[in-house]
Amino acid sequence: MMVNTGTVVFCADIGGSFIKFGLSRQQGEVTELARVATPAQSWDEFVLALQALLTEHGDGHPEDTPLAISTAGLVSPQSGEVMATNIPGFAGHNLAAELSQVLKRRVSVANDADCFALAEAHVGEGMGLPIVVGVILGTGVGGGIVFNGQLVRGHGGVAGEWGHGAITRTELVLDNNLVRIPRLPCGCGQTGCLDMLGGARGMERLHHELHQQSLTSQQIISGWQDEDAQSVLTIEAWLQLVGEPLTLLVNIIGATKVVVGGGLATVPRLIAALDERVRQSTLHSYPQPLVVPGKFVSQGGLVGASVLGRQR
Ligand SMILES: [Zn+2]
Repeated sequence: MMVNTGTVVFCADIGGSFIKFGLSRQQGEVTELARVATPAQSWDEFVLALQALLTEHGDGHPEDTPLAISTAGLVSPQSGEVMATNIPGFAGHNLAAELSQVLKRRVSVANDADCFALAEAHVGEGMGLPIVVGVILGTGVGGGIVFNGQLVRGHGGVAGEWGHGAITRTELVLDNNLVRIPRLPCGCGQTGCLDMLGGARGMERLHHELHQQSLTSQQIISGWQDEDAQSVLTIEAWLQLVGEPLTLLVNIIGATKVVVGGGLATVPRLIAALDERVRQSTLHSYPQPLVVPGKFVSQGGLVGASVLGRQR
């Protein structure tokens, strides 16, 4: 791995709504310079937006200063294409190759969960550890894997996407009652994916399924903390449904640390309960906490891009 920590790198974090743009003088450090709306529908307008940002903030930096991008969607290392449902303008484009040509500089691109994992593995809670899994428990479930400091991209860029693929469990015993686990159709085209029950929206679906009551994930979590019986039951179900596939992931890749990002990572007690659940069932014992909240829960994209832009 070649890391040139002295080079300046421009970083962009591209979501369905906003492009966050910043400058990194050192790996792990990014100064945010601008935030503009993402022209999600049009490739040409997207390119123009990046050109404008680079022109506006390029003074005093070499013209070929690299650009590192964290983006929503899956980034295929084979075709360079980005599959992002919320950015239709990307369809059919090889992001890194086309942008390198138009913007006349090296452009590197990775998925936002992968960038979070890179940030945590290099300068966060998994710093210097050999096998770091970045797990996103946000609206849905995502993730990325960093092996000896290098991002594992995998076929089509799907490495670490543990939220898709069916939960094999069809029932749970909760409070001595047998509860059926709903198998819901997922946006990926499959049925029964963890993504439909494992993130914040999933927790809400689960609560509705168990109690026929619509609450937000924040309400369910505070109910759990206040020992409200219904919320306690929902979180118990959630911990089992998320904990089992996460344990499987840990066993498969021999994770050294699992660092959690996304909205649910802002509740330390929930992540501690998940950690306890996972460590009860891993094949090899982990005397120290294994599943921990990340350091970059909110700026993982930009910080991860600052690492990505310095890798070859
Ligand atoms: Zn799915």
